[in-house]
Amino acid sequence: MDINRVGIIGAGQMGNGIAHVFALAGFDVVLHDNAEDVLNNALLLIEGNLERQVSRGKISDEEKDAALKRIRTTRRLQDTGDTGLVIEAATERETIKSAIFEDLVPHLRPETILTSNTSSISITRLASRTDRPNRFMGFHFMNPVPVMHLVELIRGIATDEQTYKELVEVVHRLGKTPASAEDFPGFIVNRILMPMINEAVYALLEGIGTVESIDSSMRLGANHPMGPLQLADFIGLDTCLAIMNVLHDGLADTKYRPCPLLTKYVEAQWLGRKTNRGFYDYHGDVPVPTR
Ligand code: NAD
Repeated sequence: MDINRVGIIGAGQMGNGIAHVFALAGFDVVLHDNAEDVLNNALLLIEGNLERQVSRGKISDEEKDAALKRIRTTRRLQDTGDTGLVIEAATERETIKSAIFEDLVPHLRPETILTSNTSSISITRLASRTDRPNRFMGFHFMNPVPVMHLVELIRGIATDEQTYKELVEVVHRLGKTPASAEDFPGFIVNRILMPMINEAVYALLEGIGTVESIDSSMRLGANHPMGPLQLADFIGLDTCLAIMNVLHDGLADTKYRPCPLLTKYVEAQWLGRKTNRGFYDYHGDVPVPTR
């Protein structure tokens, strides 16, 4: 099937990045969020990020303008249904995602591929709540989407081979690299990455290091481009906590228990960059450690 138009649900950190890369690759994009300010902000962010690519010589001014013209925003969920592919990138909460699929299904074309960008929720379970488990897949982009090359493709137990092949083709059209992962908690990247971030928060809680020494240890000692606490702020501490809870519940092993200090930060609504405070405070020009 020829996919030329995609619907994206949720215009937050991930949704706006996904809209950016699809529009730049020539797809028409229908971007939905239930919050008007999020949609306006997403368009501004996409424009700014495209502009940065122009200034770095990665794309031309014409390509930027053409990409922006391909994005339409909407507060009506049903507008995303008349497309060949839908990518759900709303808040990482199963009740929210299930409600979205329930509302959307009656508006989908029969052949539309339905996907979720979830970091950790069972694809098989989400698929079972739709009318098309065979045309449902996990489509897991990495943050920031325009920069990161990998896309994890996760088959639910009922996903058919044709759907998988069509999504591999889409990933190639985006100029990215697919990796196939089985439908178990955290898939590949988060199964390995999140316990490391969680362990960094334990190291902070236990006083083994400060925010700065933990991050510089992993940057300079393990050659990671970002320290684990800086990365956690970047991902969003609520998202990190939600993923740890899914690993803990889904794998039933105490080694995945979320660090109480991570929970405390989320309780304080110190969620990282998106709220200007997490393990660092981002109100000034230079991030300042909060512990
Ligand atoms: P975010 O909080 O930045 O954005 C979520 C958006 O969903 C918000 O704009 C919110 O208004 C919108 N939303 C909530 N309920 C909605 C509804 N019923 N209908 C329409 N929109 C709704 O979160 P994010 O970081 O962009 O994460 C989105 C998804 O991507 C999650 O499933 C997350 O696990 C996944 N993900 C996140 C990262 C990351 O690094 N942040 C990486 C890969 C995947």
